[in-house]
Amino acid sequence: MSSLSLEHVSHAFGDLLAVDDLSLTLEPGEVVCLLGPSGCGKTTALRVAAGLEPLQQGRVLIDGEVVAGEGRERPPEERSVGLVFQDYALFPHLSVADNVAFGLRRLAAAERRTRVSEALKLVGMAAAAEAYPHMLSGGQQQRVALARALAPRPRVMLLDEPFSNLDARLRQQVRDDTLHVLKQSGTTTLMVTHDPEEAMFMADRIALMRDGRLVQQGTPANLYYEPANSFAASFFGEINYLEGVVEAGEVATPFGAVGAGDLPEGSAVQVLIRPEALHLTPVDDGCPVPPHSVAVMAARLMGRTSLIHLRSLELPEGSPHFHARVPGRFLPPERQCLAVALDRAQAFVFPREAG
Ligand code: ATP
Repeated sequence: MSSLSLEHVSHAFGDLLAVDDLSLTLEPGEVVCLLGPSGCGKTTALRVAAGLEPLQQGRVLIDGEVVAGEGRERPPEERSVGLVFQDYALFPHLSVADNVAFGLRRLAAAERRTRVSEALKLVGMAAAAEAYPHMLSGGQQQRVALARALAPRPRVMLLDEPFSNLDARLRQQVRDDTLHVLKQSGTTTLMVTHDPEEAMFMADRIALMRDGRLVQQGTPANLYYEPANSFAASFFGEINYLEGVVEAGEVATPFGAVGAGDLPEGSAVQVLIRPEALHLTPVDDGCPVPPHSVAVMAARLMGRTSLIHLRSLELPEGSPHFHARVPGRFLPPERQCLAVALDRAQAFVFPREAG
């Protein structure tokens, strides 16, 4: 198992700084997702790691060996990296087995055959060895692409949006299979995705990027429960925004006070509350109601959860409404009053941003 490090990597296209001082280390066997909105520099960072984009600044190390930097630039084929992109890129005129064997040309025929059958078995495609790519579904083709990348036993796998061409259900299946294949083979993996749920599904650690810079890195739980800023908090799903002012170390909200941490007394702040942080209890005797109450504007079943649109009874009419997400089927009628208990672990306070 191998490690991969990007150290202070910057990369510009003309005047555009696509990657800005990115440092990231993958421990052996780790799956790390580079996550961020479109255009934030994820693919560029991955291409620099692969050697597909010549290094401009910083260093890339695999197993402690400098593969790019300090005047050195090993070509991609000498870095022992496996690459999988969203478009599979299988050779249409080669069988599945020959596609997988493509990167193994330097091995003796017997060893090559063993490796091909091992890799195809790993991705559950052994039965399709003699098929041609056009005979396979998108999901099967992507599994073959994964097998082809794994067969040379690369030190590091680099995956760029590998599931984005698959429809939703197939995507779930293929990414589940891929995760287990990567973990079973102990392959250190850097994967690019713009989908926070996919990153949480796949990653031991997530590196969140914005405008070429690393915003935060950590486990999915770190990023979800201890976001570094409002961008990180809101990237993982819908969020309720409020504004307030720090008083006695807290910020008052219509759902109760939230601790303001180290933020200075009197400072203007924004409070971000996840929809699942609002715990709702019907009020028996209708309105008027205890503090921190809300009235239901609409309730919708979303499958595993219900989404409740709420109006705070503590705010003037016409104020922005809030969303609560509760497990299972909970569909209170419109205008019903509910008491709210706030889960403070999912409410975050940050300095108010200018503009
Ligand atoms: P996406 O998910 O949309 O692919 P990304 O986060 O992977 O986005 P990059 O593809 O790395 O982002 O692009 C980062 C920025 O660099 C973008 O503004 C993009 O337009 C620009 N860019 C990428 N490749 C080139 C190139 N070869 N020439 C010029 N600009 C480029």
